[in-house]
Amino acid sequence: MASSEIEVTESPGAATAQDPPGEAAAAVVDVFSASAYGDLEQLRRFVEQGGASLSTPDASGYYALQWAALNNFADVVQYIIENGGNVNATDNLKQTALHWAAVRGSVAVADVLLQNGAWVEAADINGYRAVHVAAQYGQTAFLNHIVGRYHADNDAPDNDGRSPLHWAAYKGYADTIRLLLFREASQGRQDKEGCTPLHWAALRGNVEACTVLVHAGTKQELKVKDNAGVTPAQLASNKGHRAVANFLTNAERAMSNHWTDKIRSGKFGDSGYAPILLCIIIGCTILFINSVLAAPDLPKVTAAVGLWAWTAISLAVGSLIMFFRCWSKDPGYIKTPRELGNHQDDEDPLLSIDVNNSSQWTGKWSQLCPTCKIVRPVRSKHCPSCKHCVEQFDHHCPWISNCVGKKNKWDFFVLICMATMTSFLGAAVAVQSMFHPSSPNFFFFFMLPSRFIADSMKVNFCQGYGLPQPHFQRASHGFIMSWFNILELLYFCFSMALC
Ligand SMILES: [Zn+2]
Ligand SMILES: [Zn+2]
Repeated sequence: MASSEIEVTESPGAATAQDPPGEAAAAVVDVFSASAYGDLEQLRRFVEQGGASLSTPDASGYYALQWAALNNFADVVQYIIENGGNVNATDNLKQTALHWAAVRGSVAVADVLLQNGAWVEAADINGYRAVHVAAQYGQTAFLNHIVGRYHADNDAPDNDGRSPLHWAAYKGYADTIRLLLFREASQGRQDKEGCTPLHWAALRGNVEACTVLVHAGTKQELKVKDNAGVTPAQLASNKGHRAVANFLTNAERAMSNHWTDKIRSGKFGDSGYAPILLCIIIGCTILFINSVLAAPDLPKVTAAVGLWAWTAISLAVGSLIMFFRCWSKDPGYIKTPRELGNHQDDEDPLLSIDVNNSSQWTGKWSQLCPTCKIVRPVRSKHCPSCKHCVEQFDHHCPWISNCVGKKNKWDFFVLICMATMTSFLGAAVAVQSMFHPSSPNFFFFFMLPSRFIADSMKVNFCQGYGLPQPHFQRASHGFIMSWFNILELLYFCFSMALC
């Protein structure tokens, strides 16, 4: 990659506005400082009594309007425009007051400027428009405002071919990325170096930015190579961002068609692991009946043990029913406007959110789903496996090949309880039958390679724990028993994994 860092334009006025109020009063010496500190009274005095001009720049080439815009003084901005300030005046870098307003995300100032004829697409010498500056500084509300209300192009390229999405990805502003993707910014756009936004996010090791981009994208971006022939995953790896490199490599594997890649990435097709779990439950139940209860060479179980055994079988059947419900039920998918059939193209859904209440805003951006194009309710989340937002999302369970959410969480809870009880009861009955004085023992199978070790282990283990001595004479049934126990153990592990 030719250049790995993007220079961000820092506004020189940023420092002055942060001075304490006491010093501010002393620092107001001309129209520029009065504008920067929002001292409208002093500004009036300079203009109306001193005859100062608002249309000429200061020694550095910056205008009073820019200073007021930067520090979000909408009343001062209004006054300057009404008293000869040029709303589209540019400094030496060709930046307008709107660019400066975008640095701090001054929405009220943007309204005043744009309603007084400011050009929303004005570009500076780097080709940065207000949308680029807002993305560089993570001013999501500002960006949303000028795009939604003033139709700024949210996908415009700068002189290097970088869109606001490139910038937001590079700086790691996940909320800005969500907004831009929600507003259909192009993920596949390559800049002059051939880099997509995912390249820039990977370069900087921004995990959250990469996650949002990958989940909302078509996954084709993972394969795109820049001019140096490097994919985002390789770029992250080269830069030593291991978490991002692993995430992107896993995402690449998941979209690969090779079955080993799917297993390694934890995704086994669209069906997940549900068929495996189904086979295990049915297989274990049949083995339990066949090898423990109905086995001809095992001692007949007592009434009490039999009752527990049949309880375990009933629970296994119940687990199957609950498994089917969890697997087949809608977990609480949130319908997209397209699915609901109402295309409200004329009404921008994001404009109804109160942009002036910043405390409300900050929590809201994560509620935008760039994939489903909805503002989702609190506690809901997008599931990349199901490709839907799920209400009261808990997690996506590969064993039931479904999400656990609002509508199936109780079914899932009952499934977990039933599966756990089945495992414990089944195992208890099986162990009770095996350690009966006249039963074969599964230890034999494990110790088959060395009869000598088997014998010594048998004695040591059983004596040590005060257990009855097992019999090793009839090994044929022990073989089935051992497999039953392995499966039982697996089943138990699976039910634990479900939790
Ligand atoms: Zn979604
Ligand atoms: Zn899911």
